[in-house]
Amino acid sequence: MNNAPYQLLITGANRGIGLEFVRQYAAAGFRVFACCREPHNAAALASLAASSEERISLHRLDVSDFGQIEQLASDLHGQAIDLLINNAGIYPNGALGSLDYNAWHKAFLINTMTPTKMIECFLEHIAASRLRKIATLSSKMGSITDNGSGGSTLYRSSKAALNMVMKNLAIELKPQGIATCTLHPGWVKTDMGGANALITAEQSVAGMRKVIDRLSTDNSGRFIAYDGQEIPW
Ligand code: NAP
Repeated sequence: MNNAPYQLLITGANRGIGLEFVRQYAAAGFRVFACCREPHNAAALASLAASSEERISLHRLDVSDFGQIEQLASDLHGQAIDLLINNAGIYPNGALGSLDYNAWHKAFLINTMTPTKMIECFLEHIAASRLRKIATLSSKMGSITDNGSGGSTLYRSSKAALNMVMKNLAIELKPQGIATCTLHPGWVKTDMGGANALITAEQSVAGMRKVIDRLSTDNSGRFIAYDGQEIPW
């Protein structure tokens, strides 16, 4: 029987929801590969790693640089990744009449394409693991059904496209025993969510961990909130 710790790879691990995922999974005994753009400026993550008895390692990864993703996948060759969490994301502003199309490109790159590129590059690592799970942070704002207020076109469209990619990949990866879920973390008090948000990162991540625990190929491909509620596409 293999008693080695499960291994988590996560993007955007230096602050917000990503940092809290690292904290909670490390506390639960996972070995965590924590990726962030600037490890030398990631004080909170570095301090967590320092007190983790080598359960957490920091890895430089700007997800918009596909060369860096490929390099990290190569550096981690032979490591089983039980759980990949695609967490890094951006929320560009812009209203009709002054839409910033360069920012829109960037939103599609970071929010839609890089989670996909991460999955492509780490597929072998995930397939070689025991848990074989992928969780990707989307948002209820990417739900077409739920959209009753308009606005935030750049963000909404990049997350809606992400949802379609993840639904597709759930179907395509099931034969390999890989399960995926697309998560809505709630409205969370982070730099992105702001101070008026409804829940803390701790509450959000505790809920999402329960969803990820229950994830299997039997329920793969769903769009689920941190409290377990299914979100309409
Ligand atoms: P946040 O506080 O703004 O943190 C965003 C994280 O993404 C940071 O670690 C940031 O790193 C990283 N990131 C951005 N661009 C990156 C890049 N090019 N390469 C690598 N990392 C990059 O956001 P959050 O609230 O924790 O959100 C995490 C996820 O949840 C996002 O996907 C977001 O869309 C989703 N979400 C959040 C809420 C909410 O209420 N907070 C609601 C729905 C969905 P740097 O520090 O280097 O910028």
